[in-house]
Formats: sequence, structure tokens, C-alpha cells
Amino acid sequence: MEKDIVVIGGGPGGYVAAIRAAQLGAKVTLIEMDKLGGTCLNRGCIPTKTLYRNAEILNTLKNIDEFGIGVSSYDVDVDKIQNRKRKVITQLTDGIAQLLKANGVEVINGKGRLIDSKTVGVSLVDGSELEIKTKNIIIATGSKPSMPPIEGADLPGIFTSEEILDFERIPEKLLIIGGGVIGMEFAGIFNAMGTKVTVIEYMPSILAQVDSDLTKRLSVSLKKRGIDIYTSTKVNKIEKDSEIYRIYCEGKKGELSFEGDCVLIAAGRTPVVDEINLKGIGVSFDRRGIKVDENYMTNIEGIYAIGDVNGISMLAHAASHQGIAAVEKIMGLKKENKNEYVPGCIFIFPEMSTVGITEDEAKEKGIPYKTSKFLFGANGKALALGEAEGMVKVIASAEDDIILGVHIMGPHASDLIHEGVLAVGSRMKCREISGIIHAHPTLSEAFAEAVMGINGEAIHMV
Ligand code: FAD
Repeated sequence: MEKDIVVIGGGPGGYVAAIRAAQLGAKVTLIEMDKLGGTCLNRGCIPTKTLYRNAEILNTLKNIDEFGIGVSSYDVDVDKIQNRKRKVITQLTDGIAQLLKANGVEVINGKGRLIDSKTVGVSLVDGSELEIKTKNIIIATGSKPSMPPIEGADLPGIFTSEEILDFERIPEKLLIIGGGVIGMEFAGIFNAMGTKVTVIEYMPSILAQVDSDLTKRLSVSLKKRGIDIYTSTKVNKIEKDSEIYRIYCEGKKGELSFEGDCVLIAAGRTPVVDEINLKGIGVSFDRRGIKVDENYMTNIEGIYAIGDVNGISMLAHAASHQGIAAVEKIMGLKKENKNEYVPGCIFIFPEMSTVGITEDEAKEKGIPYKTSKFLFGANGKALALGEAEGMVKVIASAEDDIILGVHIMGPHASDLIHEGVLAVGSRMKCREISGIIHAHPTLSEAFAEAVMGINGEAIHMV
């Protein structure tokens, strides 16, 4: 039977696309060669955030005295931490299998590839082959860790983000190559667990895409927590002697070397474009991913590419959103899908989140802008939580008061950002936000005050 849509890859891009297609009445097949949920559920967002929760509790315990509670001792049981992580993953992946079944999506466990623009071949786990005829194909094969060309990067025991998630012991000294989101999240997790963490970053700043006002403050905060960060530092070589790794680098002040019992390479991710026969049928791609138009269609009619594999965003929620947008286009649904404002969250201590333009970008593009910052130190809820470090920063157009960017460093930043997402995505003006009541005492008041500050109207700010 000919299908309407065949999706290759069952991560947050692919499985969401398949469910949305089924909701719209399409006959859909989803092909996944490994586990449903993809990187996000099995090796990315969910396992890291489960570990982040452990780190959060440990950080609270470190400051527990402040709350008048005495805890004389506590242990960290790595087996239990890993079991809890696996339980959360299994609960979610089982849930996805049920959702796909309930929506009537056919799921095939096998490796998919393109045979022509209307046929997908599948190598099944039992070694047999299958061909599926379809009107449309959605490629959602995701990404894998990039390996930088560093001598010794392939030494045994050196981790990527995939292997380090299954750590069996807490390292004493962890050397992280790469100060992007993934590297910094692991830095925060292991620092809380008592590991001495050193981050080595090639660029002049960690978290290059984040507003530099916030990354400067974050770097100071991380240093206080004992995380060493070396920016503008190039790793030349890694050596291993017995159980100790030594990393040789070139930094701002000349040659440097670092020692540790564990190395994590977190140097970005590469789209999975091999082994699906893109070249064979002429789908355009380069090392950044498969090229797509505004509807995520490739250069070949009826073939779409969503999520990490097109290299646009490399975030789970972007993958899902793109999957929905592509399917709605295929099924002829006329709906506006706003794709340009993708929020980003960084689960570190303090938490960070961002949407829209940064001040650095506004300057570069010559956009007339105003900024306002509201510190959590002046927010009642943050003080009551004992987490008053950080701020909300808002960037608005100096011409028409429209909110262009919101950047948060502080408690629950990843949840707080969504008011900013709505404001930026709907092109709201500061005065529209300041005319809306925010409950007290809440962290959201910090956002309202930062917005009010753009026009000099914040109450709890001098
Ligand atoms: P993937 O999730 O990579 O899924 C692709 C799927 O395709 C995989 O299951 C794979 O097995 C399958 N596949 C590949 N080739 C074939 C084939 N030929 N046939 C059949 N199946 C195939 N993002 C966030 O938004 N928030 C976070 O907090 C976050 N944390 C992260 C932490 C880490 C450590 C990492 C590594 C990533 C994190 N990400 C996070 C990024 C997020 O995981 C990805 O952006 C997201 O998973 C991309 O979804 P996707 O569907 O495009 O691809």
C-alpha cells in the first residue's frame, strides 16, 4: 500500500511529525533504526536534565545551612543516579511508542534510505529488506557528536556526550574540550558532584551565541563555584599515561597543559547525512546539513528534512516544530508556523535562557535599541528561594518599543523565558507587557520589571 508520508528517524523531529501527520489523516510510516525518542530522549535533553536535577539537589545541600537545616553527611550513589535516569528515559520512550500506536502510525525498526524520490528502502533488524512506496519522505536522521582533528582524540576512554552520560564513577578531574551548551551543562553537573572541572574553549567566550553581558557574569559565577575556564585556547594534542590524560594547548599566554582522569570532547554536532543515499538521488547537502526551503523541503519535490539533520537549529523543540510545519504543508493545512524565534536554554548554575536578538547582534546590525536589566537580587521570590543570582535583560527597539530579545540568567530561567518567547514572537511592545498584571511574589515579576525598565517605569529599580 502506498503511504502518504514515510519518516526516517524517530527523534523529537520524526516522531512528532509522524503523529501530527496521522492526526491530519495521513497514512504514515516511521522508520527508526535504534530507539524511539532519538538523541533527545536517549542521549541528550532528558538524561542530562535528569542528572541536572541531581546536581541541583547537591548544590542545595552545599548551602543547606543557610536554611537553618543541619545535614551532617550524605552519599552519592552512582548506580542509583543511573537507575533513576534510565527509569525516566524508559517511561518517556514507552509513552512515545503508545502515542504512535494510538495515532495509527506504523513503526518499523530498521535502517532507512532513499531509493528514489518516492521509494524508501529499509534494512530490517533481522537482515531482510523492505521497500515502501510513498508520496512524501521526511528525513529526520538527527546528528552525532563531531570529532575535532586533535591528535589523541581517539584514545581509549575519551568520552563524547553519549558515553559520559553512562558514567560509572564520579571523575576527580574532568577536562572538557568545548565550552558550548553541551560542554557547559556537563561542567555544571560534575562540578556539583565534586569533580574538579576545567573547560577549554577555542572561541574568545563560552556559549558564543548567548548575550555577552550574561556570559561574562556566568563566567565569574562559575569560577566562584570552582570551574576553571580557558577561552581562546586551542587543544593541540591529548596523551594518556596509565589512567591520566594530559591535554596540550596553546592559549592567550602561550603553551599550557592540563591533567585529568577523564576527558569529554564536546566540540559540536554533525548532521547524520551518510548512509541514506542523498547523493544517489541528488538531495543537496553540505557539512552543515541538508539544504531546505522555508517549508523544510529539499531541492527535490516531496522530500523534506527536519531537525538537526538540516543544521538550522540543533534543538529538540525546533526539530518538533519543523516536523509539524513540514507535515502541515504536505497536508495542505494553511496555518502560520512562526519559526524564527527559537528559545534556547542552558541548564547550568545559574540557569540561562535566551530568545531573540542579543545586544551584540543589535550593535552589529546597527539596530537602534534600548536595554534594561532587572536583577533577581531585587525580586522577593528569588530571595525567598535563596537563588537571587542573575538577572533578566530585555532588548527593545528604540524606535517603536517592540521587544526584540530577552535573556535570562537565574532561577528557573528555562521556564521563565516563555513570556519573553510570546512577547518577541508576537512583536509585543514594552508598554503592552507593563499593562498586564504579574502575580506576586513570583520570578515572573523580574521579567515585567525588566520590560518596564525600558521606559524608565520599573518600580523596584533605581
Ligand atoms: P535525533 O534526536 O538525533 O533523532 C534522530 C533519530 O534518527 C535517531 O533516533 C536515529 O537512531 C535515527 N536514525 C538516523 N539514521 C537513521 C536511518 N538511516 N534509519 C532509521 N533511523 C535513523 N536540545 C534541547 O532542545 N534541549 C536540551 O536540553 C538539549 N540537551 C541536549 C543534551 C545533549 C547531551 C545532546 C547531545 C543534545 C541535546 N539537545 C537538546 C539537542 C537535541 O537532542 C537535538 O536537537 C534533538 O534530539 C534533535 O532531534 P532530531 O529528531 O532532529 O534528531
